[in-house]
Amino acid sequence: MHRTLLSAAVALALAALPALHAQAAPASAATSAAAQATTQLPRGVIPSHYDISLTPDLASNSFAGRATITIKVTEATDSITLNAADLKFGSASLSPAAGGAAVNATTSVDNAAQTATFRLEKPVAPGMYRLALDYSGVIGTQAVGLFSLDYPGTGGNEGKTQRALFTQFENSDARRMIPSWDEPAYKASFTLDVTVPAGQMAVSNMPAAATATLPDGRKKVSFAKSPKMSTYLLFLSAGDFERATTKVDGTELGVITRRGAIDQAKFALDSSSAILREYNDYFGVRYPLPKLDNVAGPGQSQFFGAMENWGAIFTFEYALLLDPAISTQHDRQEVFATAAHEMAHQWFGDLVTMRWWDDLWLNEGFASWMESRMTARLHPEWKTGMNAVGSRDAAMARDSVAATHPVVQHIETVEQASQAFDVITYQKGEAVIRMLEAYVGEDAWRSGVRAYMKAHAWGNTVSDDLWKQIEKAARKPVTSIAHDFTLQPGVPLVRVGEPVCKNNSTTVALTQEEFSRDRPEKKPLAWRVPVIAQIAGNAKSASTLVAGGKGSITLPGCGAVVVNAGQSGYYRTLYAPKEFAQLAQAFATLAPIDQIGLLADSASLGMAGLQPASDVLDLAKSTPAGAEPQVWQRIAGVLAGFHARYQGANLEQNARQKAFDAFAIARLAPVMAQVGWTAHPGEASTVANLREQLISVLSELGDAGTVAEARRRYAAMDSDPSAVPGPLRKTILAVVARNADAATWDGLHKRAQLEKTPLLKTNLYMMLAIAADRGLAQRALDLALSDEPAQTTSAGMISAVAGRYPDLAFDFALANQEKINQRVDAPSRSRYFARLAGGSSDPAMVGKLNAYAGANLAPSARGDVEAAIASIQDRVKVKKERMPEIDAWLAKNAR
Ligand SMILES: [Zn+2]
Repeated sequence: MHRTLLSAAVALALAALPALHAQAAPASAATSAAAQATTQLPRGVIPSHYDISLTPDLASNSFAGRATITIKVTEATDSITLNAADLKFGSASLSPAAGGAAVNATTSVDNAAQTATFRLEKPVAPGMYRLALDYSGVIGTQAVGLFSLDYPGTGGNEGKTQRALFTQFENSDARRMIPSWDEPAYKASFTLDVTVPAGQMAVSNMPAAATATLPDGRKKVSFAKSPKMSTYLLFLSAGDFERATTKVDGTELGVITRRGAIDQAKFALDSSSAILREYNDYFGVRYPLPKLDNVAGPGQSQFFGAMENWGAIFTFEYALLLDPAISTQHDRQEVFATAAHEMAHQWFGDLVTMRWWDDLWLNEGFASWMESRMTARLHPEWKTGMNAVGSRDAAMARDSVAATHPVVQHIETVEQASQAFDVITYQKGEAVIRMLEAYVGEDAWRSGVRAYMKAHAWGNTVSDDLWKQIEKAARKPVTSIAHDFTLQPGVPLVRVGEPVCKNNSTTVALTQEEFSRDRPEKKPLAWRVPVIAQIAGNAKSASTLVAGGKGSITLPGCGAVVVNAGQSGYYRTLYAPKEFAQLAQAFATLAPIDQIGLLADSASLGMAGLQPASDVLDLAKSTPAGAEPQVWQRIAGVLAGFHARYQGANLEQNARQKAFDAFAIARLAPVMAQVGWTAHPGEASTVANLREQLISVLSELGDAGTVAEARRRYAAMDSDPSAVPGPLRKTILAVVARNADAATWDGLHKRAQLEKTPLLKTNLYMMLAIAADRGLAQRALDLALSDEPAQTTSAGMISAVAGRYPDLAFDFALANQEKINQRVDAPSRSRYFARLAGGSSDPAMVGKLNAYAGANLAPSARGDVEAAIASIQDRVKVKKERMPEIDAWLAKNAR
């Protein structure tokens, strides 16, 4: 029913407005805001419909296309400019939409700007026209634009490589398949047809409306006309596929996989049914398209794992299929969470779309929050609510250095838009939403979201459109808090004063500062911070808003004070030594999520020098063996982190590391003994996750028993299927691979070559890249750039080497830059090198990165490089200034 909004009459009525984006949203606030929308194209021409006909040629990795685009010219013009990348144009002509003679246009292409301009002999008057273009383009081998993925044939296709076709257009790559106004505010409808081999299935956003067999035996599939949508959400795929479907609330819900894998998509389909039902209710607007598919593709990307194309989600196999031969409990949770995320986008992103990339977080922060919310709601037994601390921590790590950026940031270029897909946009966005939801209450938040959906369906928005609706529903000033956390960067620090206990209630003063790891002397920014606190062990919490830098809170009961109880706040909490000691004493009585929160804050504040670095070890030491598995996972993570910080080439450092490892192993081994290598029937899923992590961390710490057991099981793998159960396969192989000698590495390599299943094959090649032996790491780098691994595996292998040898991987990539660029998807190119180097502890890397950036990156595209440099400098500083405290603590406490 919303489609009527987008009829020609509405388009005409809005045509007089200065910006073409005016058609986006019915609300008047949105139309005035639209005039300021950033665009890289000249204003004055507005597309309303694309008719696209494509003929891919998989053998030559190219395609032929014809586009007829209905446009409205709002000012007389003799040229029309749109986006096009790697397209070659044939004929181009313009004709009046109402009928009449076509005039030919001459075409020029600007490769740097990714545009094509069609010049007319004389200017055309304002009005409706059709622009008809013949063109051809490239089918890529990385997941961007129109691309193919190859995989080994099985069954009747044994020995033959199979090739399937997919698209990936976010953020700005629809222009690689369709000459288009490729910006999110230019919503238009699409009618697409594609010619494919007779036996293949073709998939797009809409269901097929007609299929015709051509004289040469191929078939032409014409898809139904789409509603108005942004170009980045278009999708097309074709291959030897299978599809399974179910019906939910009148929508046909499907999963699509390569032939033979459809059974492994059952969990994804079942999960999607439950999720769709919940979303139809939550958003208050029914899912608007006739069908919703989730299409699996083999391989991986450096940029994304799944994409929310409207009505046709794309997901890499590792996040959609569950293969009993290799999938873990964690994979199961990922499959669910990924589907929940992409399906949330069907509303937040697809139905209501950010006006421009400045507000990308409206898509990603919201979908991340919804994914967590939905997982916790439909699978309470997974206890994923506790993961909120980990995801907040990831955001704070990036957000506590000068090289961070606000959640809402101004974007100018395509590269900047690509770089905006980061931990600030996703995880900080999610954390801010969680905090604001806790502040206004679940019901008010949902009412606000429903009103926002209703007001802006089919349109484009900015962040304030959301705040306006939430504030109206909550009857509470939320916009100002939202602005503090989204328009300015950084992490607030809440310092907890000395509590005063009187008449069985406690009052404590709170001071707001800023948590900065590289500019501790800077004047703190000001935030209005919603704070929830309680007395440890007391069921009742209290809340307050710390504003103007100061506040206080009164809590029922007396005892150890827990600030940020429930961990919904986006800030670090700093206690004075006495209060921290009291909390450490009461640690076992805290809610598990607060135990994790306290571990996270004390680890991070300790490394920043704001509290003793060893405080977190006091907590680790006093954690009872029976604590929640996720608390132990966090402790294992903290200990693994310290182990890595000791990493170094000299003997003295090795000795210090060994002393630390002995403590860490002594702490974790008893927990591992409790958990055991064999899953108990009916055990909690959190135990399965802990088992994986403990095996991995203990082996990394050099625990001989763990390494020996993994090796024993690996050696028995071919004769005894129970030696390496599917859910432990990746973990066991990783231990073997990390500790591999040349013969073991060759054995794994052989397995990788022989393996046919894409998921298992990719995993084996990745295993080759994690060997601790430097010579083997070098061999993995060389192998990555050979023709042997799948096209999308190479970049992943080099990244995996960088996990242990960032300097080796960076130098190698730099020496092979041209080859690397062919194997990294375009949107990741400006970030890939920075990510390789970001784990380095070598001060010399800073100079290397700067030199790389100077030679290769536009100044506006250096955000990732700056973040990597900040992270290297922090690591160097911590190693020198903080780690001696850990040594001293160990000398006193280890035994
Ligand atoms: Zn997303």
